Amino acid sequence: MPVPSSITSNQHIVVLGGGVIGVTTAVTLARQGYKVTVCARDLPTDSESTGFASPWAGANWATFASKYDYRLQRWEEHTFKQLWNLIPTGHVMELPITVYKSEQGIKDLWHKHLTPNFRRVHPPCAKPGVSGAAFTSVSLSAPDYLQHLYKTAVQLGVGFIRKSFNSIHEPFQGAHGIPTADLVVNATGLGARKLDGCNDPQVMPIRGQTVVVDAPNVKECVMALDSSYSSESAYIIPRPNGQAILGGCFQVGNWDTEVDIDMGQRILERCFELNKNLSPTGKFEDIKVVRHNVGLRPAREGGARLEFELLEDPQGFDEGHPVVHAYGIGPAGYQCSWGMARDVFNLVDEHLKPTRSLDMVATTDSIKQSANTTPRSCPVAPTTTRSRSSSQRWIPQSPIISPQTVLI
Ligand SMILES: Cc1cc2nc3c(=O)[nH]c(=O)nc-3n(C[C@H](O)[C@H](O)[C@H](O)COP(=O)(O)OP(=O)(O)OC[C@H]3O[C@@H](n4cnc5c(N)ncnc54)[C@H](O)[C@@H]3O)c2cc1C
Repeated sequence: MPVPSSITSNQHIVVLGGGVIGVTTAVTLARQGYKVTVCARDLPTDSESTGFASPWAGANWATFASKYDYRLQRWEEHTFKQLWNLIPTGHVMELPITVYKSEQGIKDLWHKHLTPNFRRVHPPCAKPGVSGAAFTSVSLSAPDYLQHLYKTAVQLGVGFIRKSFNSIHEPFQGAHGIPTADLVVNATGLGARKLDGCNDPQVMPIRGQTVVVDAPNVKECVMALDSSYSSESAYIIPRPNGQAILGGCFQVGNWDTEVDIDMGQRILERCFELNKNLSPTGKFEDIKVVRHNVGLRPAREGGARLEFELLEDPQGFDEGHPVVHAYGIGPAGYQCSWGMARDVFNLVDEHLKPTRSLDMVATTDSIKQSANTTPRSCPVAPTTTRSRSSSQRWIPQSPIISPQTVLI
């Protein structure tokens, strides 16, 4: 629903990046009255592009946050609630999940009070050191959900422009027919590695390969450890459209977007072991393969970067170029999307609010009351920081999400 003009802001925000983080952020900012343009090399409708991660996700909600990673937990918790609320729309599906991982990994699961029906379960075949937990969660079909987000953004007045940028400063120069930015949100995923003004060497891919199958009879998600091949695991994620996505692998630093057919076969075999209903007849050869996929998760050594930075204008015209970085979420972009977008909004608002008109301030209550909005009073988390120069980089407390953490 478009916001009433009385609460719109004249300040223009350019979101660099059309993946799930960029578009969810654009929706969140537009709902709060900001003028937003998403500029990206790959747009959310490019469901066949391996140039970005978002079309290739599972995607379900299954935590990647360690016991003490409160920032990631907060993003995941907020997003879980938002996705749960979307179940009636049909874009998100309620989903029973069983995870098998180390005994300690199961003990450390922090979301017992968030995800319904949480309980301990025994693995079907006893493997030493492996334990299990089951709970109710959600899944979505990533390409369909991206379309839904895109349509929502367009309805809110968000503009979309296909454009590849060399520098984070370009949107401040009013070039390429894009209205000059008052602030840029950097949601470029792996692009943050080479984007001038950011050039983050800690950004790196984590390659994931999956197989999409028609499996309307599969109603449960299973995620299990398989240690026969390093960096490979087994998971089955049913989607709202009757398909299921089977995985997978977690290859840190691998940029290869070609399908490895042998790996695809191993994925099918491992997942069939987990659930024979993947085949309508119960025979392996009758599994209906729709396609093989490869996607590169945009990860970052040290964890995702979400912070405000006032960059110097390299040309010296402007007092500074305000940027909110939001990249490097790796394997958890969908399940963190609304939480990250809320933190981005808080940082944007903190920076731009003083220059808003009085009318804008006076309508705060009406904004709070409007449907689907994030309250303005959301505190910025202590672990989500501001910095004033690129040399003062924020270093998160949590390490990169390691393959060990992810191989479940
Ligand atoms: C196999 C697989 C399974 C996954 N499963 C899950 C799951 O179950 N749950 C979950 O939560 N997540 C999952 N993920 C992770 C999820 O896909 C990512 O975390 C998420 O897509 C990251 O979104 P993003 O917007 O940060 O980056 P991206 O989707 O990579 O988007 C980056 C955007 O920036 C643009 N860009 C980059 N550089 C430039 C530039 N210089 N100029 C202009 N534009 C630029 C790109 O074109 C793109 O639009 C999975 C990923 C894979 C590969």
